[in-house]
Amino acid sequence: MGSGQTAWESALIQLSNAVRELGLDDGLHELLATPRRALTVSVPLRYDDGHVEVLTGYRVQHNLARGPAKGGVRYHPATDIDEVKALAMWMTWKCALIGIPYGGAKGGVGVDPKLLSRNELERVTRRYASEIIPIIGPEKDIPAPDVGTDEQTMAWMMDTYSVQTGYSVPGVVTGKPVAIGGSEGRGGATSRGVMYSAFSALREASVDYRGCTVAVQGFGKVGGLAAQFLHDAGCSVVAVSDVKGGIYNPRGLNPVALLRHLRGGADSVVGYPGTDTITNDELVELDVDVLVPAALEGVITEENADRVKARFVVEGANGPTTPAADEILEKNGVVVVPDVLANSGGVAVSYFEWVQDLQAYFWTEDEVNDRLKVLMDRAYTDVSGLAAERGVSLRTAAQMIGVGRVAEAHRTRGLYP
Ligand code: NAD
Repeated sequence: MGSGQTAWESALIQLSNAVRELGLDDGLHELLATPRRALTVSVPLRYDDGHVEVLTGYRVQHNLARGPAKGGVRYHPATDIDEVKALAMWMTWKCALIGIPYGGAKGGVGVDPKLLSRNELERVTRRYASEIIPIIGPEKDIPAPDVGTDEQTMAWMMDTYSVQTGYSVPGVVTGKPVAIGGSEGRGGATSRGVMYSAFSALREASVDYRGCTVAVQGFGKVGGLAAQFLHDAGCSVVAVSDVKGGIYNPRGLNPVALLRHLRGGADSVVGYPGTDTITNDELVELDVDVLVPAALEGVITEENADRVKARFVVEGANGPTTPAADEILEKNGVVVVPDVLANSGGVAVSYFEWVQDLQAYFWTEDEVNDRLKVLMDRAYTDVSGLAAERGVSLRTAAQMIGVGRVAEAHRTRGLYP
């Protein structure tokens, strides 16, 4: 998606910026830039009509210095090894930044899940899970949902792993249904975190969030509930979009009614009554207070960054802003709350889910949400404090904290042999 830098190039440039600020040596830089493991697997799929196609799946473990690897599984036609490597690297810095004991990973299958039946999706998922079983497990690498996957995908992965192990292993994935060891509050966690971090940035700039106008790109798991939470808190969500396009109403949309409309069978937000249709490109350039990109990477680039009118960009998605665009936004005074901070609520509650699974003792939704807020507020304070101290952007400060903690873990553990 987008033009200019690819996700992997962006991730490497961001790492170099953090390494330079931290004064790390070349050897450590190379170690941090290199994925620990990158597995490519073939995923043969028998379609319901009997014909067979071989899809390609990936699981990349970027870094394991601070604990088992953690990261989502993406089903998307454009998913390839470089995208998965970038997403895995961002997971490493994110887990370190919010202070949870994980390294970073990501996985994916190059497929459009919307074109598959439920039975085909189940077969893809079980075969993909079987192929990556040698490297996953509650102490090794714990997958979760991402673009194109959901609670049901995680249930099939958990079941596949458990059947092959011989007993139930709920801690092998997070983002599962509560009925099989999922956590209360996980479904809305990423979106809740997006709201918390948006409000922290607004508060810091002495802007009242009530009445703020918001545009959300990607009305999926993250964007849909982020729109709802922001609306419920008193913001005016004026535009949302999905892969088919966007809708706009300057007087504000009702995300709850829109979610209900989609659950009722509509296949897109486009065409929702009482709204104007806009493109995804137009949404990014709307004159709003807060822009929440919550779809894919590379949507704010050097091509359109100068036309972004929002004062705050809160990255629900991973990697939506390229490094070249970051420079333009910074020059224009736009505050970017970076992905590794803004969307870290998801992995935070995934961590809580894993802890609950390992202890076989479950918390209430209020306990989960309260602990999430503590982690997110602490991370925001750390990042904004370092940004002010060093005169760098929130992105560079967030990366410095994440990269710095992983570097410290490497130095402390030493290099084997
Ligand atoms: P999702 O599949 O639930 O939703 C994705 C949304 O983006 C859908 O509305 C889809 O139609 C839309 N979309 C897809 N391609 C698009 C395009 N080309 N242009 C515009 N819209 C497009 O996925 P999600 O889980 O909500 O993930 C969204 C982003 O948030 C991703 O970058 C993901 O890595 C990131 N993220 C997700 C989680 C999580 O817990 N699910 C956690 C942290 C970060």
